[in-house]
Amino acid sequence: MASKGQLKLLTDFLNIPDVKVTHFVQDTSLGKILSVASLTSEVACPHCGQMSQKIHSYYSHLIKDLPMNGQNVYLQVNKRKMKCENCLKIFSEPLDFCEPKRNYTKRLADDILNQVKHSNIKSVAERTGVSESEIETMLKDLKKSLVGQKPQDLKRLGIDEISLIKGQGNYCAVLVDLDNSQLLALVPDRTQEAIEKVLLSWGIDVLSGIEEVSIDLWRPYKTLVEKLMPHAEVVADRFHVMNQVQEELDNGRKQTKKEVNNMDDKKKKTAKLKVLHHSKYVLLANSDDLNEAQKSQLEEVNKEFPKLQKMHELKENFRKVFEESINWFDGLLNLAEWLKQSAELFPKSQGTIRRWLVEITADFEQKTTNGIVEGINQKIKLVKRCGFCFRNIENFELRCLLAFQN
Ligand SMILES: [Zn+2]
Repeated sequence: MASKGQLKLLTDFLNIPDVKVTHFVQDTSLGKILSVASLTSEVACPHCGQMSQKIHSYYSHLIKDLPMNGQNVYLQVNKRKMKCENCLKIFSEPLDFCEPKRNYTKRLADDILNQVKHSNIKSVAERTGVSESEIETMLKDLKKSLVGQKPQDLKRLGIDEISLIKGQGNYCAVLVDLDNSQLLALVPDRTQEAIEKVLLSWGIDVLSGIEEVSIDLWRPYKTLVEKLMPHAEVVADRFHVMNQVQEELDNGRKQTKKEVNNMDDKKKKTAKLKVLHHSKYVLLANSDDLNEAQKSQLEEVNKEFPKLQKMHELKENFRKVFEESINWFDGLLNLAEWLKQSAELFPKSQGTIRRWLVEITADFEQKTTNGIVEGINQKIKLVKRCGFCFRNIENFELRCLLAFQN
């Protein structure tokens, strides 16, 4: 039997407002079991609001709390059922430290969710002794608290996508606030209807406040913006425009490799293939990011393959159009010049750029998005990497939202 002093000490240690420890048991298999009682004598009736002191009955409730010294801690609460003196209805007293119908404290749920941010459900369950289904319930409760939270002061919206399982075309649409790099929603289905549903749930006030929407080069997104946010300016995310040009350069590299492979002269063929070996990175990367060894590798590729050299130069020039244009008009002229020079070597990119000219040049004015969408994608990829046992998309979205919570 714990002394009064020990119970006082445990009460301080437990540190839950208006709660005192009345009894303490150390159990070898379960851990610490603290019996606690509420210090408040009056409880507001949820039906009529009247404060009530009349106790109808007690019932016992076991609640898991944060571990102490590596041991599990359970709170045994003698929960009161009150009878309202005004409306005569019977109700359970609410506990500030525990959500109704949950058998763990709020602070334990916070701690577990925080761990889920950096790990996956299964290993957090193993580590903490909280079951996987309980963690899923915690996530669902979190979702309830997040749902209905509309974006605040959203001015610049980014719509992008990520593939869930690489190579299977399993895409999710990602909605982000570009001003504070926050994830707003992850839409499991990358269809216009599914995204429209999420956008509409934000309400007309939020949608009409959006001034600019950054999208990748996908027509349905543009149609959607024009439909729901007719006043917002559509900007093509330069990350995706750049991707397109890089892809075409990479196709040039593959084509070159094919031609070399078809050569009859064996000695020449081997030498040329050696130069091309692992050349994808040095060709596609930003030239400023290459180290000395990579730079000399690039030089060799350029010396051996004039067509790739020309394509690489054009790719770098394309990047500079975005990085160095000082205003919209300057950007437009630089882009026009690039289109002239690259007509022969980048036919596919030409088509895309001409089709999206308005949206691409809008980026010169806005200087919007460089890196933001990419950064968010990276963060989601991290969640994806540690979350291979997520059972469904809903969990995945929650874990992503959790990762973006401060
Ligand atoms: Zn009442």
